[in-house]
Amino acid sequence: MRISRVQAFVCDAGWRPWTFVKVETDEGLVGWGECSDSRNPHGVSGSVRDLEPLLIGEDPRAVQRLYWDMLRSFRQNLGGTSHKAIAGIELALWDIKAKALGVPVYELFGGPMRDRVQLYWSHCGTTRARHGDKLGLPPLRGYDDIVALGQEVVQRGFRALKTNIVIPGDPPRTYFPGFDRGYNGTDGVVTSEVLDQIDKLIGAFSQGIGGNGQIALDLNYNFRPAGVIEIGRLLEQFNMQWIECDTWDPRALLQIKQSIPQRLASCESLVSTRQYRPFLELQTVDTAIIDVPWNGFGQSHIIGQMADAYELTVAPHNYYSHLADLHAAHLCASLPNIRIMEIDIDDVPWKTQLITRPPKIEDGYIHVPKAPGWGADIVEDVLKEHPYPD
Ligand SMILES: [Mg+2]
Repeated sequence: MRISRVQAFVCDAGWRPWTFVKVETDEGLVGWGECSDSRNPHGVSGSVRDLEPLLIGEDPRAVQRLYWDMLRSFRQNLGGTSHKAIAGIELALWDIKAKALGVPVYELFGGPMRDRVQLYWSHCGTTRARHGDKLGLPPLRGYDDIVALGQEVVQRGFRALKTNIVIPGDPPRTYFPGFDRGYNGTDGVVTSEVLDQIDKLIGAFSQGIGGNGQIALDLNYNFRPAGVIEIGRLLEQFNMQWIECDTWDPRALLQIKQSIPQRLASCESLVSTRQYRPFLELQTVDTAIIDVPWNGFGQSHIIGQMADAYELTVAPHNYYSHLADLHAAHLCASLPNIRIMEIDIDDVPWKTQLITRPPKIEDGYIHVPKAPGWGADIVEDVLKEHPYPD
């Protein structure tokens, strides 16, 4: 079996692009991988084009060799968009290999460890504040609407949610300095106004959820350690799943972990074992977040095992299409140290039509698929109905 074509597709998923890689073979077997990046889709798809000549004519089942060939080819650009392109191709190669053997991908990694994985509803309130109008979802005009959203999460079977700094109003806002107008994007300091907004937001979600679940707050890259610590201490009164923040400095993260009462989750932007190693060695987090579409499956699996050796749990970073949901579910099905899995519930209405076999999501859990490969393919006709602007 030989690779005959490698293509990237970018579609417009409402407020962000989704990027997919399709690898075709001379025997007709096709593999799909997702490597969505909200900000640089053309960089990712361009890198896929740059890698195609390296892959044409090769046996797609030699996944490890091809991964390292691609990495050597791009080694002066390790990480970033080029690594996402490598990951998307690598994921499509695992799909082909597993389909050729007639097994799900996790079988190649000794799975399944479990039949289903607990989910948390991610960007809860964030998506409604930014795109609720477009999606026809209930408005977030006041904190009562946040209470109602917390109740909805529980009614729909979930026991965990993650939000960002959402400020209800007409229109509602989110606090992302640098993205949202009116805030400096680099200072990373916490004001008393922001502390008050966070206190009200988490208080309203807590009231809505009652004793039925936990809340995670993702602070992204928006604060320096002193700010994250201040927020962590403010939220001591609530039942938090974790505090989440991003930084490229492992010692800064360790300082946060040692200073707040809650569990800390981070590392979503890292790619490759080499970037994770200092964060894991210092045990800077309780839960290491791993992005499969950015790392590929082989590296994600090794990073998860490395985390296990340091007594840490992992959680997939996953806010994409259902294909990435499947990539994440397969990772959870092949590791022994899963905390929980991320998923976006508020999304474009055609999300389930984009895939041949949408994942089964029930009572706040995703069921691990049983069909060969990832368990489903992308429906190209639906993909092409939503072109992303060049
Ligand atoms: Mg995050």
